[in-house]
Amino acid sequence: MRERFNRYWKDEGIVIRSTNLGERDRLVTLFTQKRGKIRALAKGARKVGNRFGASLDVFNYSEFMFYSGAGMPILMQGLIKFSYRDMTSSLIRWLEGSYLLYLLDRCWQWEKPEEGLLERVLYFWEIILKKGEDVYSSFLRFKLDLAFYLGIAPHLESCVLCNRDVEGEAYWSNQEGGVICPSCASKVPEKVVFPQDLRAILRYLSSPGGNLSSLKLSFFQFEELDKILSDYLSYEVGDKVMNWHDFRSLYQGAVFSS
Ligand SMILES: [Zn+2]
Repeated sequence: MRERFNRYWKDEGIVIRSTNLGERDRLVTLFTQKRGKIRALAKGARKVGNRFGASLDVFNYSEFMFYSGAGMPILMQGLIKFSYRDMTSSLIRWLEGSYLLYLLDRCWQWEKPEEGLLERVLYFWEIILKKGEDVYSSFLRFKLDLAFYLGIAPHLESCVLCNRDVEGEAYWSNQEGGVICPSCASKVPEKVVFPQDLRAILRYLSSPGGNLSSLKLSFFQFEELDKILSDYLSYEVGDKVMNWHDFRSLYQGAVFSS
């Protein structure tokens, strides 16, 4: 606890995004081990030969030194410990890696540390960099992780309302947070159809031993599940969380038109 009151502190983590501030500085959003998602001011970061090097670029895991003044923490120094810079080797990888940062930024509260979540980002970045692994099921897994750490893990084993096992056709409710059986469906005004194959995939992905590489997920199944989970997160965080399809379309368009 002593460190909390120290004006200088060290922390490790990743950059979620950074924007230019005036001629010299950058405003950086980070996700660190000890403090979670925070904003910090990197003074002089736009100057040539500044002391941050590439540590303020996304796709690095770095050690940072901060100073607490009256306002926002000041970022004093950054030292890359591990780089995932191969993520920038193709547009699609860059988009895939950035999507995890987007989800973290969109769904996670300020100043709530969660080391487990930080580890998951690094783990899924590694999957993206290993060609051949299923990136799409990683996106679903990451959304389930986010829901878990937000304390809103969806109820998938049985009907949320009556707790009976569900066979065949069923529904998904954002408000109830999971599966709704046909008998209870009339009590829930807002719901979407949640077919058996999709339920089985999501249950598998949410189980601790759920092995990503042994799962064969069709693109259609992925898009349906991704939409359900993105809408669920949107409902819970009270802000639009784009699914992968929309995120990719938006940013691919932005990159090609610039
Ligand atoms: Zn029911």
